Amino acid sequence: MKRAKKRKTILKRKRIALIAHDHRKKDLLQWVKQHRDILANHELMGTGTTAALINEHTGLNVMEYMSGPLGGDQQIGAAIAEEKIDMMVFFWDPLSAQPHDPDVKALLRVAVLYDILTANNESTADFIITSPLFEENYER
Ligand code: PGA
Repeated sequence: MKRAKKRKTILKRKRIALIAHDHRKKDLLQWVKQHRDILANHELMGTGTTAALINEHTGLNVMEYMSGPLGGDQQIGAAIAEEKIDMMVFFWDPLSAQPHDPDVKALLRVAVLYDILTANNESTADFIITSPLFEENYER
């Protein structure tokens, strides 16, 4: 296993992945609307259905990967491993089983491994997006 320990900078303009399981999509959409003006200054991407929903209801430009159960979680995980994503807001559903549970686990694993900003609920997402550090370049 080879992984260089390099100092990495999370730039002021962040690349943010937005993902929500079906029962949490309304909550994520509400969170995005609440922080729309901040999010508009960043590069956004998301799993297919989530991204399309946000694009439709907010006018933001969220790049659409494939739908999560069809490989979208894996695509986002790969983008994290390639260091193309700085932050992930992933409202996963703690009350329903998912057919793509192994993909969800893998995605959460690489997010920790690559030390990206990760929020799995509204309060954490609020704290991250309102942190003074969010508006700066950050050395991690
Ligand atoms: P979706 O995928 O945005 O395409 O619904 C979300 C997920 O299940 O990971």
